Amino acid sequence: VKRIGVLTSGGDAPGMNAAIRAIVRKTIYDGNEIYGIRYGYRGLAEGDIYQMTIDNVSDLLARGGTMLYTARYPEFKTKEGLEKAIEQLKKFGIDSLIVIGGDGSYRGARSLSQAGFPTIGIPGTIDNDIPGTDYTIGFDTACNTALDAIDKLRDTATSHIRTFVIEVMGRNAGDIALVAGIGSGAEQIIIPEADLDMDLIVSEIDAGRERGKKHTIIVLAEGVMSGHEFAEKLSAYGNYHARVTVLGHVQRGGSPSARDRMLASSFGYAAVELLSQGKSGVCVGIRGEEIVYGDIIDTLDQKRESVLKPLAKINEEISY
Ligand code: ATP
Repeated sequence: VKRIGVLTSGGDAPGMNAAIRAIVRKTIYDGNEIYGIRYGYRGLAEGDIYQMTIDNVSDLLARGGTMLYTARYPEFKTKEGLEKAIEQLKKFGIDSLIVIGGDGSYRGARSLSQAGFPTIGIPGTIDNDIPGTDYTIGFDTACNTALDAIDKLRDTATSHIRTFVIEVMGRNAGDIALVAGIGSGAEQIIIPEADLDMDLIVSEIDAGRERGKKHTIIVLAEGVMSGHEFAEKLSAYGNYHARVTVLGHVQRGGSPSARDRMLASSFGYAAVELLSQGKSGVCVGIRGEEIVYGDIIDTLDQKRESVLKPLAKINEEISY
């Protein structure tokens, strides 16, 4: 009987629970044991570990957040932190580990792999900013949440003839801004992947006003600058007072979308399946509709190419 450990790390994302559920159920189906590690790498180093049963994951699929909790634990970058973790894994007799998280969490998984401990990474972050996969768990739900909020802001913007700057998450990636912005018909979508041209933005706002536009919705990715900074830049041009809405952590919550539940269940299943085939030191992903996996070290060295790149061109030509 093999003992697999699972933890979630970094920022939480809707669908992490669905992945945990799939991992627990598939491991038990295979006749093996599954151990939940609470609070990410911190809980791992501190031995906050318990054997999970099917009952632990009942009624879980539709819930946002992560039932295993998550934490930031910078000490994991040190030799001592890593040694503590490996000691605990040995103590509990755990043979392999599945880590669900973002870029930083992958680095932790890479350290464990390099130290000889079989580890698999699953991409879980709303930012969609991890190499080796087209999509990450939580991204689709976050886009839908942002979209819903922007639709509502549009109602009030139209009623008062106002300009709104809506700051969305995504770290250094503009994927959430692109999807939510194009989906909501925003006049401007500002992403870190494109050069910022304030003069062009202002001239497009002017042209819209001349055509009788009742509102201007500007969706801004947080990776460019903050919404307030952007509004200040805009007001320097004169009559361009903008209301700023920072969507913030609402984007991280909520029940996962169908897409995220499916993705998370497929990733969870694939990770357990790979371990049973003796594969580790890899991370899973999706390319097109196919679940894939790649070496975790190579993947982290890759430059991420967003699969949504074509949307940036569409944005340029239809958002104004
Ligand atoms: P998100 O992108 O959603 O915030 P993340 O996984 O990128 O998620 P981080 O805070 O960057 O979030 O990383 C999570 C944890 O992973 C860190 O607190 C730390 O314990 C571990 N970690 C990060 N970087 C490294 C590294 N270079 N080496 C070892 N462990 C790391």
